[in-house]
Amino acid sequence: MPEEKEKYIVVLGSLLSGIGKGIVSSSICKMLSFYDIKILPLKFDGYLNYDCGTMNPLKHGEVFVLDDKSEVDMDFGTYERFMNADLNGSLSLTGGKLFSEIISRERKGDYLGEDIQIIPHLTGLIQNKVRAAYKENKLDVLLIEVGGTVGDIESGYFIEAMRELALKQDVVFVAVTYVPVIGVVGEQKTKPTQISMRSLMQLGVQPDFLVTRSEKDLQENTRKKIALFANLEPERVIDNHDLESVYLVPGALMEKGFDTALVKALNLSKNTINEALLNRWKGCIPDENGKQKIKISVVGKYVKLHDSYASVREALMHAAHVNGISVEINWLESEELEGADDAKVDQILRGSAGILVPGGFGNRGIDGMLRAIRYAREKRIPYLGICLGMQLMAIEFARNVAGLHDAHSTEFNPVTSNPVISLMESQKGVESKGGTMRLGSWPALLAEGSYARNTYGTDRITERHRHRYEFNNAYREALSSKGLRIGGTTPDGALVEFIEWTDSFGIATQAHPELKSRPESPAPLFREFIAHAKNHGLKNPLA
Ligand code: GLN
Repeated sequence: MPEEKEKYIVVLGSLLSGIGKGIVSSSICKMLSFYDIKILPLKFDGYLNYDCGTMNPLKHGEVFVLDDKSEVDMDFGTYERFMNADLNGSLSLTGGKLFSEIISRERKGDYLGEDIQIIPHLTGLIQNKVRAAYKENKLDVLLIEVGGTVGDIESGYFIEAMRELALKQDVVFVAVTYVPVIGVVGEQKTKPTQISMRSLMQLGVQPDFLVTRSEKDLQENTRKKIALFANLEPERVIDNHDLESVYLVPGALMEKGFDTALVKALNLSKNTINEALLNRWKGCIPDENGKQKIKISVVGKYVKLHDSYASVREALMHAAHVNGISVEINWLESEELEGADDAKVDQILRGSAGILVPGGFGNRGIDGMLRAIRYAREKRIPYLGICLGMQLMAIEFARNVAGLHDAHSTEFNPVTSNPVISLMESQKGVESKGGTMRLGSWPALLAEGSYARNTYGTDRITERHRHRYEFNNAYREALSSKGLRIGGTTPDGALVEFIEWTDSFGIATQAHPELKSRPESPAPLFREFIAHAKNHGLKNPLA
């Protein structure tokens, strides 16, 4: 009997990026997982960076961190939130990783005597890598999302590798395209899709399905026209118009029969839905209908691009859902609070049911964040600090409660006489910037009687990290004696992981709990923060 072929779904972007290819990919994985099909996503990004760690969040969106220390594209956040699974870094391929591997192999002599070429060496390496991911994870299906769009010079060789893969294995190609509406009559235009189909076919790839992104539902004549140009039956053109929440996309695609069509196209033997899995997911989808709204102010430095804080935004939504409330995020550029007098600060922050300071790097906006934290403490507004937000909570407390007026982090003032936050011992002497922070999953031990311990309901937890600086242990005593509780440390006690106010609800962690928040398992710290914010908001209705 011939060996069964491996099964892959390749998702390509045609036309333009930023239309939600990551959400379509995540939704495909989710739909098939309802069939108990073992499926995971792998992402290729064509840039020559080795990973996302050195990219600017204002340009590229948030840098996502996995348990295994990998710094990856923010699409991994979407994958993990949909799949409720911890992914590993080998599922992230970049142009940088591929080229660096091929060159180091060449130096070792792996290709002695040969001239190394994009085809077959690089395309061969790619196929080996995706097939290894398929086998190592013992999958029924591997979904491969190709970053960028068809026609980009950066991804041409990768698409060629997928074409070659399809000669030997079962590969279904899904192209995600955009259908714009032009003019007052609201006509849906198909020409851009027609042209992009032609470029895809020039690469030797015939798509098996087209997913069309549009604002409103796809009109029947538009579907027919697109189908004709893509050599497809109209049923293979799947409408994915905008919805209220991204978490509704798997259900919406299932209503169009995309799940059954994929199961059939890949000839998968698992072809019945496990209703329990489907219902569990449906019950966890955040919705705002008829729910009371509270305002949460997020004071950061990358707020111009909300994607810089994508996981924070999602974690707030998951936490709102389990608290039966709806959250409106008030994105505040921290620089706006700098130089403002107290009345102005009050005007900006009044009506916040909770205040959150997320992670960040560099000096810009620090004073504004400190103002917001002081406001939260003095007005007893629930506060959640994440990474930089914890470091600043310690600095604000040191300055305004413990009287250490010049307290600072050596990241922002290397010569402060009170370095409440300083460089971790393990970071001293580290010069290279890529992949050198304290990264990935780390355990922490939570203190008896702390908010942290009560929130997590256990004394030992793990959360993901991405930072170089830490709470300076020389100040533990001075600050705890004034009422700053150390809520948790690393198991050896060496690094402070949680700090807390004792007069009102304020908690901060050196970790990034938002990275593990999912609709089906909301982050405990966000859940607790929103529970307190809900109470506060109900007692102090919006002005
Ligand atoms: N800049 C700080 C550090 O490196 C905080 C980092 C963060 O918020 N992720 O320690």
